[in-house]
Amino acid sequence: MIMRFAAVILSLFLFSQSVYALDIVYPKSQNVTINSTTTFFVGSADTTIPLKVNGKTVSVHKSGGFAYFVDLNFGENNFTIESGDQKQNFTIVRPKLQSSSTIQKPEINYETPMFVSTAKDNIPLRSTPVDDGINRIAHLQEGIPLTVAGEKNGFYKIRLNGSQNAWISIKDVSPCEGLQPVHLLSRTSVEDDKYYIFKIEFDQKTVYQIEESPFSVKFYNVADKPDSTFIFTFPLPQRLAGYSGYFEGNTFILKIRKFPDIDKKRPLKNLKIVIDAGHGGNENGATGCLGDKEKDINLKIARNLAHELRLHGAKVVMTRNGDESAGLQERVDITNKNDGMIFISIHGNAVPDSLNPNENSGTSIYYYYPQAKPLADAVLKSMVSGLPFKDDKVRQRSFAVVRNTNALSILIEVGYLINPSDNSYLIDEEIQKQTAKQIAAGIEKFLKD
Ligand SMILES: [Zn+2]
Repeated sequence: MIMRFAAVILSLFLFSQSVYALDIVYPKSQNVTINSTTTFFVGSADTTIPLKVNGKTVSVHKSGGFAYFVDLNFGENNFTIESGDQKQNFTIVRPKLQSSSTIQKPEINYETPMFVSTAKDNIPLRSTPVDDGINRIAHLQEGIPLTVAGEKNGFYKIRLNGSQNAWISIKDVSPCEGLQPVHLLSRTSVEDDKYYIFKIEFDQKTVYQIEESPFSVKFYNVADKPDSTFIFTFPLPQRLAGYSGYFEGNTFILKIRKFPDIDKKRPLKNLKIVIDAGHGGNENGATGCLGDKEKDINLKIARNLAHELRLHGAKVVMTRNGDESAGLQERVDITNKNDGMIFISIHGNAVPDSLNPNENSGTSIYYYYPQAKPLADAVLKSMVSGLPFKDDKVRQRSFAVVRNTNALSILIEVGYLINPSDNSYLIDEEIQKQTAKQIAAGIEKFLKD
């Protein structure tokens, strides 16, 4: 009894310590340099007494969390944050403007083409001469010869055929002798219960591009084809459910997963789903207003989701199941090795110094390949209908785990840890469980429709 009483007192003490003490989680230090016109303070404070930043009252969420957006002048900016008799001083230095080195150089077109070949595997071929993620049109293997027609911004302009060009980073290629048209030697296809597998054999590797709607692979620099382009098409009986295409030697292997027959009563039955809890180990991810770490919140939601999906008959693989570090490629390898059909990465969001944490909230879902957009749409719709998070949109973005997995892959930013209201939901165990239920319901809806 006394023990229990002591435990209650202790827990009250711990609770008041963690919620009511003035604690700033961002900026991470009281003396920092921030190269931005604005920044913000994020942390926790006593909800019963006024919180003041340089004398101005700041509202504190009932959970104890707060976020306060401030302007920064050039040079030193001093802030005093006060909550009752607790006080913290911050000095934030905004560096003077430096001359911009990002002036765009004009495009140079060569009078005579030169030739290069890819220097390693998984090199992005892009539609524009910038590294902006979703302008990738293919990922090429090592040793693919290319015709260079010009350059811009550190990228070579690659001539694909008479009308199409693409761009590749100069550092990803090395010079080569020349380039002969390749010859298509044979085409074979095999089919098992899970995959359509096509083998397209050439006498040499060549540059290619995969498109989803309609599904096609365009091979360039092919002899005896109109505009030197051989277009491989395949009428898919159902929608896409993950695929991969790559050169193995001089043979292009295209593996297209068949969309499984869905049992309308138990749509998830026997489906292989990979759940990826973002960050982990020494990588914390974002920090919430009350000091919670994104990696821990991600893991809790991911475990609840695994439980929920297993209840509905799915076969679940987790990329991590504890507080472990896992590299991005490791997460991709786990997914592809286990032949996951659906890949769900769980994260919590934050914003850069330029954005106000109070004005950014809600659930956003990211996909890379258009094949996964209907899944993203269905999951977001289910989440916002049954959870307190607002709709922060489905977007296409080039996240490595989503881009490199041969699955229907999405990344869910459940809410913003730096937004006091979202943060209070993210750390609520009931809401974490409900989040898992709504994600599972969204996947089921996608499968049934
Ligand atoms: Zn994250």
